[in-house]
Amino acid sequence: MIELSRAFHLDLATGRFAGQEPTSRRTVGELAGIFESIEGEDPGRVVYETYGCPAEIEGPPQLLFATTVLYPGAVNGEYPMTRGHFHTDPSRGEFMAVLEGEGKLLLMERDRTTWAVPLTKGTVVNIDGRHAHRVANTGSVPLVFLVAWMSDCGHDYGTILSEGFGLRLRTP
Ligand code: MN
Repeated sequence: MIELSRAFHLDLATGRFAGQEPTSRRTVGELAGIFESIEGEDPGRVVYETYGCPAEIEGPPQLLFATTVLYPGAVNGEYPMTRGHFHTDPSRGEFMAVLEGEGKLLLMERDRTTWAVPLTKGTVVNIDGRHAHRVANTGSVPLVFLVAWMSDCGHDYGTILSEGFGLRLRTP
């Protein structure tokens, strides 16, 4: 998927690239640290899968792209969500387009100011590289979105894992 000037086929409804297996899959158990609690939940349940390019590659900086399929279903009263991260290079932003579903894009400044952007099919966001980003599925069907980023943006998952976002999205 990192070959340049080559066509790939993306199924816009499912977020899957033709002939490709997921590049990653995150379960409730693997994401235990981002939820308040996973008590009573099946740790093996898949929360989301990604398809497309790996997050980072060796060599000269290159534009990468991937889709995420974020499944519905609360985790102990919180909407299912991605890990979320800061870019270590704040001059590197990220493009996002929602293909299916309903959700929220959580954005956070370094001072922990946090806000939510509503997501629905067709929502496009050019994410500022200074803002930590996380996506939550608030709907009843898979939330499918496409993202594109520069390979040298750097991914800081640790800050979010240890400090979280300034806002939790709980189900009613
Ligand atoms: Mn990112």
